[in-house]
Amino acid sequence: MTVPENKIILSEAQLPQHWYNIVAELPFDVPKPLHPVEDRAVEIDDFDWLWPAECLRIELQKDEYGTDAWIEIPEFISDVYRRYRPSPLVRARSLEKHLGTSAEIYFKREDLNPAGSHKFNTALVQAYYAAQEDGSRIRCMVTDTGAGQWGAALAMACETLELDCCVFMIRKSYDEKPYRRYMMRMAGAEVYSSPSELTSTGRQILKDDPENSGSLGIGMSEAIEFVKENPERRLALGCMSYYAVLHQSIIGLETKLQLEQIDRSPDLMVGCVGGGSNFTGFIAPFVRDKIEGSSIEFRAIEPESIPTLSEGEYRYDWADFSELTPRILMYTLGHRFVPPPVHSGGLRYHGKTPVLSALVKNDVVGTKTYSQREVFDAGRVFLKTEGVLAAPESAHAVLGAIDAARDASKAGRKQVIVLCLSGHGYLDLKGFSDVLDLDTPN
Ligand SMILES: *Cc1c(COP(=O)(O)O)cnc(C)c1O
Repeated sequence: MTVPENKIILSEAQLPQHWYNIVAELPFDVPKPLHPVEDRAVEIDDFDWLWPAECLRIELQKDEYGTDAWIEIPEFISDVYRRYRPSPLVRARSLEKHLGTSAEIYFKREDLNPAGSHKFNTALVQAYYAAQEDGSRIRCMVTDTGAGQWGAALAMACETLELDCCVFMIRKSYDEKPYRRYMMRMAGAEVYSSPSELTSTGRQILKDDPENSGSLGIGMSEAIEFVKENPERRLALGCMSYYAVLHQSIIGLETKLQLEQIDRSPDLMVGCVGGGSNFTGFIAPFVRDKIEGSSIEFRAIEPESIPTLSEGEYRYDWADFSELTPRILMYTLGHRFVPPPVHSGGLRYHGKTPVLSALVKNDVVGTKTYSQREVFDAGRVFLKTEGVLAAPESAHAVLGAIDAARDASKAGRKQVIVLCLSGHGYLDLKGFSDVLDLDTPN
């Protein structure tokens, strides 16, 4: 075996030219979305006013998206990806040393792009589909955002495609977490505190409860209503969609090449799950190996207070509070679930994307939950050892890897553990401070 390097870097020429379309190769079906109220499958023209048509084609597994394992990445996208991709895979030697572990730990860096998280990988493509759409003149992408990672990624993507961007940001975050709001504004987006006076949903809620602090469900309902008002607008979605998973497969494809380059194959891959897009994209190309008999393990990490995969029900449910979106078969805590105010805003979804849910249901992927305190402690250890401040969401993956490395050491096993560092936490320091008590003078 060759001695592994610290950073495994691919050249720009090695950037994958295709996304991996896992649904075309799974030995089981990933059920397609059902109409929100009628007892039938969704068709493209049910929702072509709401989503870019290409997003719907992917979501409904139409044509090549139902049959082809490899989907060509448009040249425009590759050109922009090359500004920050391929991203490094880094051996966490310092963390290994700190733990005194027999395991090797690697992290895939998705924190080094324009918006600071993996979300830009799909925001860019969604804006591209909208800008390219034949027959419509889409001028504006609309979305909702919690802590602001998704809004910031979409704002940057829209700027790249010269589209307008309108973001409904949950009022509590709008007021308490202003930095990503500033970033969205700098990138040219309009940001509204939700509930807002711009939609009838928002006006009604504010009339009944002027102090309402907002939720992702309300934000999404406002975004949908806002799109419906104007045919030049479409909705962008970060996490729960299959098109987001497809685009995020770039993470796993690069990781696979990088590990091959140093002659390693992973024993365990670990990631955090909100809607499931970064983790599913990360593991997708390796799932194929597992189905063909490899002993690789996959572990999806959730906050203890939002245990969708670990304790939710597997059934059809809506992606939004107001039952406007298609119903999808997934693990869910119920679309009316109100998540506790944990700092990992990106993990506060009631459901998990159908493909990941199916992988868990079929025992391909395992799950684990951790408390916020232990996750933030792991974030601190990671900063001290590796010099990287993980996003609160990504710190779940870090702890998953630390935990697994400890188990490996106890068993005297030499494991290769790879985690997906989905984003950085430099704009989340207030959350770290609240949990780790960093404001008290020392
Ligand atoms: C949004 C977000 C997540 C969760 O979303 P997934 O769809 O599960 O990937 C995880 N990490 C970061 C940094 C995020 O911004």
